[in-house]
Amino acid sequence: MGHQVAVTLPITALTSALTAYMNNCTTVYELGMAGNAMEKVIIEHLAEKYGYQKGSAGFITSGGSMGNLTALITARTSSGVGEDDFGRLAVIVSEEAHYSVERAAKIMGIKSENIIKIPVNKDFSMKTELLEVAFQKAEKEGKIVFCVVGCACTTSVGAFDDFNAIADFAEKHKIWFHIDGAHGGAAIFSDKYKYLLKGAERSDSLIVDFHKMMMDPPLSTALIYNCRNRHMNEFSPKANYLWQDQLSNEWYNSAKHTLECTKPVSVFHTYTIMRLYGDEIYKQNVDRLFDLGKHFAEMIKAQNNMETALEPKSNIVCFRYLPKAGSADIINKKIADELLRDGSFYVVSTAVKDSFYLRVTIMNPLTTADNLADLLTKIKETAYRIENFSNKKGV
Ligand SMILES: *Cc1c(COP(=O)(O)O)cnc(C)c1O
Repeated sequence: MGHQVAVTLPITALTSALTAYMNNCTTVYELGMAGNAMEKVIIEHLAEKYGYQKGSAGFITSGGSMGNLTALITARTSSGVGEDDFGRLAVIVSEEAHYSVERAAKIMGIKSENIIKIPVNKDFSMKTELLEVAFQKAEKEGKIVFCVVGCACTTSVGAFDDFNAIADFAEKHKIWFHIDGAHGGAAIFSDKYKYLLKGAERSDSLIVDFHKMMMDPPLSTALIYNCRNRHMNEFSPKANYLWQDQLSNEWYNSAKHTLECTKPVSVFHTYTIMRLYGDEIYKQNVDRLFDLGKHFAEMIKAQNNMETALEPKSNIVCFRYLPKAGSADIINKKIADELLRDGSFYVVSTAVKDSFYLRVTIMNPLTTADNLADLLTKIKETAYRIENFSNKKGV
């Protein structure tokens, strides 16, 4: 329950063997007939789930970081801004956005000062009322805002942005609206939790990682474009040795659209899962893990010497031990170190508003409330030992 690594479905051991044995890639049709076709099937299914317009399309790429970069490049092309003005390009993101968004912008040569970070509310969602102010200020400074990125959800604490508010803003100024749904995008499968993605149907693109909440081994990420703004053939790569028509879209030649040339047929995992179990298994996984996250928060709040950083919206829960005296940061750091050394639980940490918090992401659907109760007991025992038996060096 440390990081957001999927507990893979057992069937993916077989699909991994198949992938290795077949040694296909999706680059062009003749190298990956099945893979390219499966991607089309899966992407169209997902596009419909997210409420994207009919005819929407996309592909599978190697990870959320790659997906975000590809989406931002697409957004830039779609903006129509010429190369002479690339130095003026600016992107608006939440200050809580995953670092891969900022890194993608930097890879594209966007200046640091043009990566405009919007502060967050108490629940760590973007303060969307500041979007307009930020936009006006950027324009005055001669910047060209071409894209705004929403989080579904933030990695650190699991916050979901208000996508309808972001869509209103993006539509008003005709800028690209991308959603980073690497982790929480899977909530779309849950009747109970898909409300968290309200307004996502108005975005221009989104990513969702199959290797996080969708039980795939790494790496496999869907990047989907809402067809009203679709620009799939971003890179227009010239490669006479791969295809004859250099400009047409040709979904079955994946290298025309992705940053990758050789690309594994990672879709075998997702396609197999969907054919065997249907959407139902994703629904159950999301419901189970998000429910457990909420339940764990209740358990923490019932302790008199612990607190959550905020009400969890998902399976990411940030919390800390509250010492009777002394610094909460110091003792929680020691607890985190001690837990890692001990090895019976795997818990990570994060900074929430500059304070140190323990962080869990409950990823295993077989984790029980009893396991979580045992974790809390372990933390209290560890804290007791540190508070009462540490020497001056805190060892
Ligand atoms: C994990 C994560 C990423 C990065 O995805 P990779 O597949 O690890 O490259 C991007 N954004 C968010 C919100 C994430 O949680």
